[in-house]
Amino acid sequence: MKQLPAATVRLLSSSQTITSVVSVVKELVENSLDAGATSIDVKLENYGFDKIEVRDNGEGIKATDAPVMAVKYYTSKINSHADLENLTTYGFRGEALGSICCVAEVLITTRTAADNFSTQYVLDGCGHIVSQKPSHLGQGTTVTALRLFKNLPVRKQFYSTAKKCKDEIKKVLDLLISYGILKPDLRILFIHNKAVLWQKTRVSDHKMALTSVLGTAVMGNMESFQYHSEESQIHLSGFLPKHDADHSFTSLSTPERSFIFINNRPIHQKDILKLIRHYYNLKCLKESTRLYPIFVLKIDVPTANVDVNLTPDKSQVLLQNKFLTENSKTSLEDATLQIEELWKTLSEEEKLKYEERAAKDLERYNRQIKRATEQESQISLQDSRKKIKPSSSWNLAQKHKLKPSLSNQPKLDELFQSQIEKKKNQNIKIVQIPFSMENFKKNFEKYKNFELEEKDELCLIHNLKFPDAWLVTSKTEVMLLNPYRVEEALLFKRLIENHKLPAEPLEKPIILTESLFNGSHYLEILYKMTADDQTSSGSTYLSDPRLTANGFKIKLIPGVSIAENYLEIEGMANCLPFYGVMDLKEILNAIFNKNAKEVFECRPRKVISYLEGEAVRLSRQLPMYLSKEDIQDIICRMKQQFGNEIKGCVHGRPFFHHLTHLPEDT
Ligand code: ADP
Ligand code: MG
Repeated sequence: MKQLPAATVRLLSSSQTITSVVSVVKELVENSLDAGATSIDVKLENYGFDKIEVRDNGEGIKATDAPVMAVKYYTSKINSHADLENLTTYGFRGEALGSICCVAEVLITTRTAADNFSTQYVLDGCGHIVSQKPSHLGQGTTVTALRLFKNLPVRKQFYSTAKKCKDEIKKVLDLLISYGILKPDLRILFIHNKAVLWQKTRVSDHKMALTSVLGTAVMGNMESFQYHSEESQIHLSGFLPKHDADHSFTSLSTPERSFIFINNRPIHQKDILKLIRHYYNLKCLKESTRLYPIFVLKIDVPTANVDVNLTPDKSQVLLQNKFLTENSKTSLEDATLQIEELWKTLSEEEKLKYEERAAKDLERYNRQIKRATEQESQISLQDSRKKIKPSSSWNLAQKHKLKPSLSNQPKLDELFQSQIEKKKNQNIKIVQIPFSMENFKKNFEKYKNFELEEKDELCLIHNLKFPDAWLVTSKTEVMLLNPYRVEEALLFKRLIENHKLPAEPLEKPIILTESLFNGSHYLEILYKMTADDQTSSGSTYLSDPRLTANGFKIKLIPGVSIAENYLEIEGMANCLPFYGVMDLKEILNAIFNKNAKEVFECRPRKVISYLEGEAVRLSRQLPMYLSKEDIQDIICRMKQQFGNEIKGCVHGRPFFHHLTHLPEDT
C-alpha cells in the first residue's frame, strides 16, 4: 500500500464520504468487491447505528499493510491520479476506512491466504492501530463499525424518526440488490437485528440474478438487449420491458427498480433515467404518465471517458461526451459536420472572436498544467524532507506522467475552475418557466380576500416545477422563495443557540494556569462562573452553559485555602480537530470583551464552522418535495426566528428573489 502524493490528494480528496449508514455500507462492500470477494455478509444492528459489519472472503490485508490500511490517502489501488485512466477498482482515494474511523469505532479482522490465522485490529479515530490480537476467522476481511456518529449527535438526531431509519435500511437493500444484479456469482446476505432481510445465492448469469430480484412473473415480460458502437467505443446491454409486455408488471411509480450501471458502478444518472422514462411512457404506455419502467442498463465505455470523481461516493459520474443524453440521435460525426456548417456561416469577425477565445482557453489550460507541475515538484521536495517516500525515481516518474494531457485532468481543472468562477461572478442561472398572467390574477384574487394586513405579510401562491422555488407575494411585490435556504438558516440558528457539544473525557486532564492562558483575567472569569453541587471528593464542575454547550467539562478542585483552588479541563469535545485551550480562550474573550451572556454569543469560530457544516448537510437531506403546509410552516418559523430582518442562508445567499412589484391599487 502506498501513500498518494499530495497533489493527487488535493485533486481527489472529498472528506465528505461518510454521511449516512448507507454510505458506510457502500464503501465497505466496494472494498470487499475490490478484494475479489465472492461472498459478502452485511449485518446491521439498530439501523446500523449500534453496529455495521461487512464480512467478505476476499484476499485479505497483508500484515505489513495493516498499519496504514485505515490511514487516509493510503491505498493499494492507484499510485497517482494518472492511474485513474485505467481504473478497474471501485476505490481509489484511500479515504473510506479513514473517514469511517473518524465517526465510529472500527475493528478490522483479516486473513490472507498466506496467513496461518486471522488478526483482529482495533483502530483509533485517526485509523491507527491501537491493539491487535489473533482471532479465528477464515480468509477474508471483516470490518466492524460500532456506535456510528456517536460523536456527531447532530447527525444522529437527524435519524431519530423511525421513518428515516427505515428509509435508510431500504437504501442499503437497494444498493445490495444493485450489486447482486451486477455480479451474478456474488453471494449476498443482508441481516438487520438478526433477521434476514434479503439474500442472494450465486447464479450463473445476469438473467438469473435479475430473476432472483424481480421474480419470474416480471422477468417473463422482460427481454435482454445488446448494442455496440465501434466508433464511440460504447457498449450497452441489459434488460428492458418486452414490446408486447403486460406493462402493469413492468411499471413502477418510483425508479427503485431502474438500474443503471456505468462501467460496473451502480449510479444515479437523472438524464438517462428521464430519457428512458419519457420514451417508455410515450412509446410503450402510449400516454403521458410518469411511470418508471423496470430495467437494467449497463453502459461500458473506455474508463478515460468517465469521470467518477464527481461526487465522493462516486454514485454520480460525468460522461466525457454527453452523446448519450444530448445527442441520442445525432452521432458524433454528424455533430462535427453540423458544427463545420455553422462555422462557415460565421462572419470573419465572429470567427476571430471564437479563435481568440479558444486560444485563451488553451493558454489558461497550459498555465494550469504548468502550475500543477510546479506545485507537484515543490511538494514532493517538501515531502521528501519530512517522510521517506517509496523512491525518488517514483517521484520523477510522477512528474513526467503529468505532462501529457490526461483526459481526466482538463475535466478536473474545469470543475475546479468553474467553482471558482461561480464564486467570483455571481453566476446567474436562467430558467424558463410557464407562466400565465390570467391564472396568476385568478389565484391572486382568491387570496386577496385574506387581506394582507401588514406590508410584509407573505402569501403563498404556487410552487413551480423546481422544488427550490415557490412563488410568494407580499402586499407590494411578487417573489421567489427558496425554502431550503430558510431551513438551512433555521437549522443553523437552532444549533448555534442550543446545540451542546458532548465532552469526552481526556486521557490526561489539562490544568488551567495563568501562563497557559497568557493572562490572569481568564481564570478570574472562570472562578466567577456558577458550579454544580459538590461531589463527594469536594470538587465541583462549572455548569455555565457557555462552557458546557461548547464541549468543555471543567472541574474546580478545592485547595487548602481559596487561593489554592485550581481548575482543570477534564473533558472536551472531540468532534473538532485541534480543539483546545485556545478555543476556551475565545469563549472567555467574548465574555470579557463583549459581555457575552448567551451561548450563541460566545461560540468559538471552530464550533461555528462545524455547526454551519452540520446545518448545510442536514438541510441537504431534506425531502426533494415539500408540501404547501411544509412551506407555510417554514415561513412561519422564519418570521418567528428572524422577525422582519430578512437574512440569507449560511452562505449568505438570499431567501427571496424579487420578481416584480405589484401595482399599488390592487
Ligand atoms: P481505497 O478503497 O480507496 O483504496 P479504503 O480506505 O477504502 O481506500 O481502503 C484502504 C485500503 O485498505 C485499500 O486500498 C485496500 O488495500 C485495503 N482494504 C480495505 N478493505 C479491504 C477488504 N475488505 N479486503 C482487502 N483489503 C481491503
Ligand atoms: Mg475503498
